[in-house]
Amino acid sequence: MINKLYPWQNSLFSHWMQAGETRHHALLLHGKTGIGKLHFAQTMAAALLCLRPQQGFACGECESCHWLSEGAHPDFREITPEDDDAADSGKKKTRKRQQILIDQIRALHDYLSLTSHRVDGIRVVLIHPLEAMNVAASNALLKLLEEPPQRTQFLLVSHQRQALLPTILSRCMQVEMPVPSREQGLQWLQAQSVPNPEWIWHYSGGAPTTIQQDEFDWHAWYQQLRPHLVGGATIDIAAAVPVLIKQGMEQAIQVLQKWLLDVWLSSHQQPLRYHPSEAAPLQALAGAVNMSRLLAFQQQLNRFKMTAQHPLNQELQLEQLLLQYKKMFA
Ligand SMILES: [Zn+2]
Repeated sequence: MINKLYPWQNSLFSHWMQAGETRHHALLLHGKTGIGKLHFAQTMAAALLCLRPQQGFACGECESCHWLSEGAHPDFREITPEDDDAADSGKKKTRKRQQILIDQIRALHDYLSLTSHRVDGIRVVLIHPLEAMNVAASNALLKLLEEPPQRTQFLLVSHQRQALLPTILSRCMQVEMPVPSREQGLQWLQAQSVPNPEWIWHYSGGAPTTIQQDEFDWHAWYQQLRPHLVGGATIDIAAAVPVLIKQGMEQAIQVLQKWLLDVWLSSHQQPLRYHPSEAAPLQALAGAVNMSRLLAFQQQLNRFKMTAQHPLNQELQLEQLLLQYKKMFA
């Protein structure tokens, strides 16, 4: 599918499509994860390149649309992080810390120094996430943004604008991407026939697109995990770890972070953020928790998140984390 716009993006999309020649050559599409920024950028790229756009959208049928859906459009470049060192591990795919490297931007430079495939045709460069660029790559990109090649549209996607160099920011038009209202989000989830849309809406913190797109059944996963979390001091760590790791280390940490935040909110009589249907068990945990241990654990999870993509000993790391979880309630 070539048009992947979300209902809460419609007016922004028409705005930028109608801008035509007056559109800034580098749009920085920023906002939190899970609101559909990348799909917005992909939809826009397709529409800009399409030979017979219909009501502002790509037609899905012309030569350009075909090339794009085959990942072989001569006037389109997409840059995403690559493995910094290409060490292969034998068994299941391990995720390494990934970056956008200077060689990728150099290759882009070479590509853009050639003329476009079509006479007067536009070229589109999509980079995501922009914060994955290391400093050398950022500086190389800066040169391109300062002296943009003709008829080239940069679409830059970022979840963490604060992590970008100020020099890069100053060369872009910063576009804050809209978030869905509760009503829009729920309607959209229902239209996708997602089971438990209400639960997904809360659990995703109002940013439902990531959680929906990989056909993993989050709610079923949570149901398996729930007894362990609710158990507090009685958690069976050996049984909990294999469930927790199912969606990788990053998600394991996130699930703990969300749960801890709600324990904290419950202990301060605040409305729950991610688990509004778990008021009773959360209150019980909040009554038993050692607050300074909870805060220390939260900080540790934040630090862990930075290294969550390292493949080393994930089960062992999770065991240690859950031991700390247990101790919070001891
Ligand atoms: Zn087309």
